[in-house]
Amino acid sequence: MHYPEPISKLIDSFMKLPGIGPKTAARLAFHVLDMKEDTVLEFSKALVDAKRDLTFCSVCGHITDTDPCRICKDESRNRSMVCVVQEPKDVIAMEKMRDFNGLYHVLHGAISPMDGIGPEDINIPDLLKRLQDDTIQEVILATNPTIEGEATAMYISRLIKPSGIRTTRIAHGLPVGGDLEYADEVTLSKALEGRREL
Ligand SMILES: [Zn+2]
Repeated sequence: MHYPEPISKLIDSFMKLPGIGPKTAARLAFHVLDMKEDTVLEFSKALVDAKRDLTFCSVCGHITDTDPCRICKDESRNRSMVCVVQEPKDVIAMEKMRDFNGLYHVLHGAISPMDGIGPEDINIPDLLKRLQDDTIQEVILATNPTIEGEATAMYISRLIKPSGIRTTRIAHGLPVGGDLEYADEVTLSKALEGRREL
């Protein structure tokens, strides 16, 4: 297929997004051509602004436009509990559920020796720093129920155990191999409720 260059460029850009193949990318590109110029400008501005204005919270690693993030700053939250997740989108999934009122720690990945990702390549050292004062009394490991997620949970629990901080793992109501973000709110809520001691 020979598209005029601006269109093929647009198609290539859409294809950089996850789950977008050439067909969908072409459909989206032609849809953009049909949009009003104002809408297109707004859309492109939203992309640039999101990238430019968002940063990672220096405390928990969540995406934020203020540092520390709103969750870390919120005095009404239970500061004795920290829920450890792999990605910022997992925080958003947990927050949608509304059952958890503690704090978070985002690892930005999971240990995966096959991919050369070790404990020091993800946000584990910062977690250990946060545990140094005795504010945090429970660490809930909510990494994904995948091989990497389980390995990461085991690794962290072994590190933390000697300190006497309660370490729990969310229950396996979650589909094995699934991502936290795809779990519905009821499943996620049950998984949190049924967490067990490690
Ligand atoms: Zn934060």
